[in-house]
Amino acid sequence: MEPSLTNNQKIVLEALEDSEQPLGAYSILFNIEKKGIKSPQQVYRALDKLIEIGAVHKIESLNSYIACKHKDCKARESTSFLICQECQKVYEVLESDLSDKFIKLSQESNFKYFTHNLEIFGICDLCN
Ligand SMILES: [Zn+2]
Ligand SMILES: [Zn+2]
Repeated sequence: MEPSLTNNQKIVLEALEDSEQPLGAYSILFNIEKKGIKSPQQVYRALDKLIEIGAVHKIESLNSYIACKHKDCKARESTSFLICQECQKVYEVLESDLSDKFIKLSQESNFKYFTHNLEIFGICDLCN
């Protein structure tokens, strides 16, 4: 079932879907000001909801956001990205057993695993 989005959430999601690169909140705002969204708070509120439903992911180290290209993405809490240092493109990695590996790794240090945000830096196929 498609979660129903508010108008603002749709506008923010479309701005991210149209972008080749991850966008920061202020770049998003700049892109959609014409559509009636005027404040960063409106953008952040929409982003919070979009992240919650898995439609958008945050790239922590870049402090920016991308639209998820995968249907039924499970990455609501944990995310894994390949980040190209040449073109700044970000590719989401669909993980199968990464969480299991990190749970094991954490247990070895008597640590209780919750989530992870993995960012792998390198060069993408197009820039190689
Ligand atoms: Zn995703
Ligand atoms: Zn690249």
